[in-house]
Amino acid sequence: MDRLIYFDYAATTPVRREAVDAMMDALGRFGNPSSRYEYARQAAQRVREDREAVAKAFGCSPAELFFTSCGTEGDNWAIRRGVEANRRKGKHIVTTAVEHAAVLETCKDLERQGYEVTYLKPDRAGRVTVEQLAAALRPDTALVSMMLVNNETGAILPVAECVKAVKAFDPAILFHCDAVQGFLKTPEPLVKLGADLVAISGHKVGGPKGIGALYIKKGVRLRPLLTGGGQEEGLRSGTEATAQIAGFAAAVRANVAAPGRLERTAAMKEYALEQLKAALPKLEVISAGDVPHICAITLPGYKSEVIVRVLGDQGVCVSSGSACHKGKPSHVFAAMGLPKRWLDGALRLSFSPDTTREEADALTRALRDAAGSLFTTLS
Ligand code: PLP
Repeated sequence: MDRLIYFDYAATTPVRREAVDAMMDALGRFGNPSSRYEYARQAAQRVREDREAVAKAFGCSPAELFFTSCGTEGDNWAIRRGVEANRRKGKHIVTTAVEHAAVLETCKDLERQGYEVTYLKPDRAGRVTVEQLAAALRPDTALVSMMLVNNETGAILPVAECVKAVKAFDPAILFHCDAVQGFLKTPEPLVKLGADLVAISGHKVGGPKGIGALYIKKGVRLRPLLTGGGQEEGLRSGTEATAQIAGFAAAVRANVAAPGRLERTAAMKEYALEQLKAALPKLEVISAGDVPHICAITLPGYKSEVIVRVLGDQGVCVSSGSACHKGKPSHVFAAMGLPKRWLDGALRLSFSPDTTREEADALTRALRDAAGSLFTTLS
């Protein structure tokens, strides 16, 4: 395979050069930030600076940002410990049917422990409304969990408005937001959402896998998910992953220092969709996506997992939905009420500021050829 034509940036991103360099440096300077001599203090100082960089991009104080091992850990921590903190209020949770498995499976686990969960159903565009959420709130609601950007459709959910509605109903209800696909992909700093708890992840923004962060708003009290040596102000034990943290922060700094990256990404997505629609008359757009980097299309009558495999054999990487589905039909597209033929042929395309027109043209050619050859095989 000569060259990778990559359209799966929502699954993960290439680790940026700046992140690799920062990680190599941190791996070399291996001190444990908790040790008490100068060499270790230097490591602690670097973690402090890295936390400041991520917090600045988020818009919060460094004291409100806690490093985790991934977005999934942040979601688990926020939801499990959030409902526990509010257990006197009741055992009702509100979320949406389009959340990532990190939230949905956590909610299902809590259902098995006696919690009741309301799943808001999306419309055909994958969106839910403030009115739907307001109607679902109850006196015993302990926590609301709503993602900012859906990882399969690219739809933006009205999180800021929903936070206001929830807090007007009862300020004690905790609001968690999975912003893994929204961090550095939307123009506003995420602190402006007003949520109590927000999870983000490093590998979606050019950082390494195995690092994320949970924002815990000042004043919100959350017990740790991991107990042990008391790192992260006693809230997330485990020796700091200094290299992962350095890579995450370097990627964040590089994103922040790249003006026009969102506009470039959006322009590439628009170009690719135009080319695809012109080359494949049967193609339907499920969602053009509100964020610059994600859209969803379908080729009704085809099987997306077959298309993904045929394209993959040629080095063209697309996804048949979230990378976490492992071949199962997308619960997001199903919740949107798409016809079965649309569900079967659904593909997610995701972009970066570095995506080129040549890559979009190569994707178009590969998809047109795959559709042509599969049609011949099928008929
Ligand atoms: N939430 C959303 C919306 C995601 O897209 C993902 C990853 O695909 C996650 C959570 C999980 O993040 P991580 O892979 O860092 O655990």
